[in-house]
Amino acid sequence: MAATTILKLDGLSKNFGAFQALRNICLEIIEGEFLTIVGPSGSGKTTLIRLLVGMDQPTEGEIRLRGTRIESTPANKRPTCMVFQSLALFPHRTVGQNIEFPLKIRGEPPARRKERACELLELLRLPLEYYGKRIAQCSGGEQQRVALARALAFDPEILFFDEPLSALDYRLRKALEKELKDLHERTGKTFVYITHSLEEAMVMSDRIAIMNAGRFEQIATADQIYARPVSKFVAEFMGEVNLFDISGTDRRGIGSGSLGSKDNLDLGLAGDEVGTLMVRPEFVRRVEGKGSSDFWVRGQLRAEYLLGSRLHYEFDCDDGTTLTVEKLREDRFRCAPGDEFLLGWDLANSHVIRSRG
Ligand code: ATP
Repeated sequence: MAATTILKLDGLSKNFGAFQALRNICLEIIEGEFLTIVGPSGSGKTTLIRLLVGMDQPTEGEIRLRGTRIESTPANKRPTCMVFQSLALFPHRTVGQNIEFPLKIRGEPPARRKERACELLELLRLPLEYYGKRIAQCSGGEQQRVALARALAFDPEILFFDEPLSALDYRLRKALEKELKDLHERTGKTFVYITHSLEEAMVMSDRIAIMNAGRFEQIATADQIYARPVSKFVAEFMGEVNLFDISGTDRRGIGSGSLGSKDNLDLGLAGDEVGTLMVRPEFVRRVEGKGSSDFWVRGQLRAEYLLGSRLHYEFDCDDGTTLTVEKLREDRFRCAPGDEFLLGWDLANSHVIRSRG
């Protein structure tokens, strides 16, 4: 089936006085997808989602829901729904009353409301006995599920989530991430989620949109963004990375003094082009001699950190830069601080970021 655009953002900008919080945002959200908007604090995520749900209006640009312009339609007139970090549940009412609230507003009869509330309890894997339980007697995770059930009771075209898991402890957050992904699959609804947690974005999303200073830097799958970032910002935002300045003419001793490479590697850069060579730490290995990998660098071990199932190493290179390497526990290097290694990796595991403009 061809993908249908459910929400289209075209040239959206938002100014607060002289400050431009959003700049020329363009995005097509596909019906049924799980799209996560991720970015550092202050990048504009909340500003954008407020425009998308109708809590604020853009300074410029259009928002179209199934082709109809909605940027001036207030939140309560839009067929979309928002799930907040602060759940906005009624604490002294029961779970059932909370879930039924949207149905009551819509004038559904009590029997139908209860039937739907029970279906939603089941969908959210909450016991049916919870129907009569007060919100104040539910745990944080249970309250989060009730908030989701209530959002689904609205039967919205799109569900927007504003960091709904950030107040929960680590284990509960991890469990709910998987549940949300599963809920998305079972309902087939369009989910638009904002977070500053990259891990959350990677676990749940079909696509991730990375925001930086009011603009999208890249919109793609988690895999593409991790392996083929379009900018240094995205590469660094997506976790540990090693970056080297290179140019199209450098075929030998590429970039900074410490990096060596085989001759005539095709880096995809024209003679006068400059760029950045990227390799993730898990692709760097210990090599016997120059030429047994496409790239190599000599490093002296500065520190080793245990990260649960993995080990993280930091090597000082000759030119003062740091090379990071990660290994699974079973592939641990036998080494001590101060040991010198020749470290290498191959072009197939590297990525070249072209410098813009
Ligand atoms: P966080 O992850 O910290 O919530 P964010 O990515 O959601 O950050 P926004 O809250 O959208 O960022 O803010 C983007 C920028 O716009 C910030 O520099 C913020 O100070 C500014 N901003 C947001 N709302 C207003 C406002 N009402 N008036 C003036 N500036 C604002």
